[in-house]
Amino acid sequence: MPNLSKLETQVHKDLKSLNAQELKKRYLSKEGLLTKEFANIKNVPTNQKSKFGKRINKLKSLVDEKLNNSKTETKIKKSSRIDPTAPFDCNTQTDKRPHILDLQGSSHILMQEVNRFNEIFTSMGFDIVECRQVDDDYHMFESLNFPKGHPARDMFDTFWTEDGFVLPAHTSTMQNRILKSKNPPIRTVIPGRVYRNEATDAGHEHTLYQCEGVYVDKNVSVANMIATIKEFLEAYLESKFDIKIQPAYFPFTEPDCEFAISCPFCNKKGCSTCGYTGWIELMGCGMIHPNVLKSANIDPDKYSGFAWGFGVDRLTMIKNNIPEIRHLRAGSIKFLRDY
Ligand SMILES: [Zn+2]
Repeated sequence: MPNLSKLETQVHKDLKSLNAQELKKRYLSKEGLLTKEFANIKNVPTNQKSKFGKRINKLKSLVDEKLNNSKTETKIKKSSRIDPTAPFDCNTQTDKRPHILDLQGSSHILMQEVNRFNEIFTSMGFDIVECRQVDDDYHMFESLNFPKGHPARDMFDTFWTEDGFVLPAHTSTMQNRILKSKNPPIRTVIPGRVYRNEATDAGHEHTLYQCEGVYVDKNVSVANMIATIKEFLEAYLESKFDIKIQPAYFPFTEPDCEFAISCPFCNKKGCSTCGYTGWIELMGCGMIHPNVLKSANIDPDKYSGFAWGFGVDRLTMIKNNIPEIRHLRAGSIKFLRDY
């Protein structure tokens, strides 16, 4: 019988010093030491075959065991990795999340306003779904009728991670998921944080909140869209105003509109809030483009719908008379106490 003692000593030594890949290569590959011994069985004298077989099988199970352990370890490592697409702080263990009451703090004004929007939209029959904070190219662009290379992608200069994820530049990244999530009628509102590669000033920020709305059913028209948005704004701003719809351009709606209201502070006379124009532009909106419906497997000949997206920061500033958008994230205790 060929001498196996040398091989046995080497296997035990290598189990301690080599990693899974090296072990596999040295012992189980085509040219592997154990593979060769298995091939050698046929040359071993019949009366020694059984003993020889048992010894090399034992060596193989030792190597296999190490390889299996290594696979399990990799799986555990992978499953405990942080999910960068998860919303808000759900990666933090529950017992480590700060509790507002423990800190004797208060809800930030933007969250107070988002809660108010949610209340109004819920009373109008909408579901509320949270937006993702990291998304992919398909949901940010392709599913919204921005094919690769489309010039309108330049309208959304946002941030990309090194591994190809995008920080959403608008809450519309959720549209495809919402439209696929159930059959019409679909009525959903999606508040979320969005990011822009902006030079900041009193009216512009790189990080802000948006609130998206999606409505799809049979026979939905522009009139339904205007009435829905007006109803919400009247409930939120607690006043009556005139509205103005002007044309705009977004790849994911057709027709596309900009929704403006007469300034509720000066009654169209002109003031600092409306930039002395008497009107305040509040949001982009429009009828959902047939290609967007198709990408979510909804038949555009059967169903139609509208969508809108407005800046939560802007509405919050208008409602609370906050002159500068940067106050909202500056972390000034004085500002936070005032609101
Ligand atoms: Zn005004």
